[in-house]
Amino acid sequence: MPEPTVLDGIAIASEIKAEVALEVQGLKARGVNPGLAVILVGNVAASEIYVRSKVKTCAELGIFSEMLTPPETVTTEELLVMVQSLNAREDIDGILIQLPLPAHVNTKLLLEAISPDKDVDGFHPVNVGRLQSGQPGLQPCTPAGVMEMLRRRNIDVTGKNAVVIGRSDIVGKPMSMLLLNASATVTICHSRTFDLPAVTRNADILVAAIGRPGFVNSTMVKPGAVLIDVGINRLTDANDVARFFPNNPDREALFLRRGSVVIGDIDPAAFALSSAYTPVPGGVGALTIAMLMSNTVKAAALRRA
Ligand code: NAD
Repeated sequence: MPEPTVLDGIAIASEIKAEVALEVQGLKARGVNPGLAVILVGNVAASEIYVRSKVKTCAELGIFSEMLTPPETVTTEELLVMVQSLNAREDIDGILIQLPLPAHVNTKLLLEAISPDKDVDGFHPVNVGRLQSGQPGLQPCTPAGVMEMLRRRNIDVTGKNAVVIGRSDIVGKPMSMLLLNASATVTICHSRTFDLPAVTRNADILVAAIGRPGFVNSTMVKPGAVLIDVGINRLTDANDVARFFPNNPDREALFLRRGSVVIGDIDPAAFALSSAYTPVPGGVGALTIAMLMSNTVKAAALRRA
């Protein structure tokens, strides 16, 4: 069997970011300075890392960004006031609320308070509806990034069996809808699916968005399939590292240095069966921020169209 193609998310993200930077220049020439506001509540370390990375990428591409950092004790009402003021600001094109929010905050209410035209995460019901009905709108960054990757690497999905494992609002559902809109024959699987391997073995394109390390193994994959691994999980047990990454001194060394290594939802051994696959890290994850930047510029342009 020929060597599978590695779908290099870092390289594709660079292509997207270079194009976004050019679009930013074009907008600025028209007197439009695209701006993103990020609300980061409390001190969740992982959220802080993500937000810092988003703000840094904005700066690299010439997008103005503003970070609002209310304390953990902030109320839903106070956050609503914050969102409403951002909705009204002419200099803000995109509003992002970093999730998860503290348990006492009404996340759904807040996401619905964001103006759909500034909803760069694509989570507002209006944008969900636009995606469902095939209208232009802002689409969730991770699944939109997967579609960009497929398009840019000439992987045509038309008519093919695409199987998505996972039905979350953030990844699984919008991923399925995007694939359907691109004329794939889509099956959505989840934790209640009967005989999952029988379904996944039928997939020409298999997307795993589950959140379980190495869950999809070689017996679940059709030879020659395209494997898209959305999962980001951490292995903290040396035995698991040895099992999933045998004869891999680099990962072992990383594990010894950091005490954990990242793995997706697909067992790396299954990649050898594929025609193309996304590695973890360096696959789908790399695209999410690039698509957020792309959505911000899209929102800036659409609002003034
Ligand atoms: P989630 O927990 O909201 O959803 C998981 C889905 O997997 C559910 O729909 C559930 O039905 C399904 N599932 C769980 N166990 C299953 C099983 N045994 N068999 C079949 N289906 C099963 O998670 P999410 O937010 O959709 O994220 C999924 C993964 O993707 C996580 O690892 C997350 O870290 C990662 N993620 C990555 C990015 C990125 O930028 N690459 C973005 C978002 C999420």
